[in-house]
Formats: sequence, structure tokens, C-alpha cells
Amino acid sequence: MLDRLKAYRAKRDFTRTAEPAGKAQKSGKKLSYFIQKHAARRLHYDFRLEWNGTLMSWAVPKGPSENLGDKRLAVHVEDHPLEYGTFEGTIPKGEYGGGTVLLWDRGSWEPHGDVDEGLEKGKLSFTLHGQRLKGDWALVRLHSNDKKTHGRDNWLLIKEKDAVAKSGGKVAVERETTSVKSGRGMEEIAESKKIWHSNRGKAVTAVKTQKKRTGGSLLSSLRSSRPSSTKRRPARAGSMR
Ligand code: MN
Repeated sequence: MLDRLKAYRAKRDFTRTAEPAGKAQKSGKKLSYFIQKHAARRLHYDFRLEWNGTLMSWAVPKGPSENLGDKRLAVHVEDHPLEYGTFEGTIPKGEYGGGTVLLWDRGSWEPHGDVDEGLEKGKLSFTLHGQRLKGDWALVRLHSNDKKTHGRDNWLLIKEKDAVAKSGGKVAVERETTSVKSGRGMEEIAESKKIWHSNRGKAVTAVKTQKKRTGGSLLSSLRSSRPSSTKRRPARAGSMR
């Protein structure tokens, strides 16, 4: 059976990070949706939509915008386990995606039409029922110059026209900086990592020497994808994760 979380697990050492190893689960009636603010080497927002028992994921460097017509680069990354959606905490420095994670939004999503067909064709339209983001959105795939990106590619996250679309002004990621789960800000979450580290200090030391890095080829394939519409290199997925 195809393991949709293989790429996710290959990049992580679960003896060193508190992120869940996870397993693919049966999706419930309502499809869940999450956004995590992630201060990795480069700050970004991880946009996640439940599908086929895992979370399809895109890293959005600037975060979503509810302003009609704004297009935000969304780098397609590996599927994550469903329970990752509510993860909040700090991934140790030096580990894959090391940095603080804050649960910025959560709720459910409703696809418009056939999801697999939309993914294949490169346009996914949907409604978000989040605590912070609502209404109609679309993910649109950019044409890639390099076909050897193993399905990793760049998309745009766009607010579609509806009753809640805005025409300008500050967007939610600028107005709202706290967690929908804990009410904490990034700094508070980052500070609590010290407690987590000291609890696990012994186990971490024990595995340190036999640690092996994986996922290098996947990373380089992520780095080689870029939107065709611009000459500038986009924010590298490798620095966002
Ligand atoms: Mn991330």
C-alpha cells in the first residue's frame, strides 16, 4: 500500500522532535483545515487541507491574503499526518524544519468539485470555514520549467470573489499573531521549548551519535522548482519546510 507519509517521515528524527510520526487515517465527514505559522530559517505559513486521510500541505512564505486579487506563492510540500494539524511547539534547532510552530487557524474546508481532478489539472477551488479565514479560495499551480520536480511544485493561493473578500488594508496574518489553540504568541511558544528540552535531554543524547540525515534528494528537488512567471528565485522550500 502506498504510504503517503513516507516523505514526511524520511525528513524527521522522531527521537529528537515532538512532531507526530503519524499514520494515514480515514477522513471524517468534515475535512479539516489548518494553518501553522512556522518560524523556520525563513518564516512562512503552512497551509494544510485534509484529503485521503492525510494533510495536503503548502508552505506560503507571506501567508494568505483575504484581499481580492492578491496572489500568494504556495510551495507544495510533503503530505503531513492528520494529527500534525494541531501541533504547536518548537522543533529543535538543527532538525528538519527547526523553529517555532504556532497554530494560526483551524476549521474545515469544502472542495468545489472533484479534488483529485483539480489537483491533476492544477486548480483547486474550495470554501474555508476557519476561525480566521473564511469564504472562497483557490490554489492554482504555476507552470514549472523543470518537469523533474517529482510532483513538488509551486502554486498560488488566491482569494476568490465572495461576500467576505476584502479590497485592501491589513490582512489577517498581520492583524492576528496569536495561536487559536493556546492564545500564545511566537515568543511564548519559543520560551516553553526549554522545558520540553530538559525533560527529554537524556533520550536525545543517547541517539545523537547514530543520527542519520535523510531526505536530501527530496530537498534538492524542492529547491529546483520555481514559478515560470518570474525570473526571481522564489523562497526556497528547503529554507521554509
Ligand atoms: Mn513549515
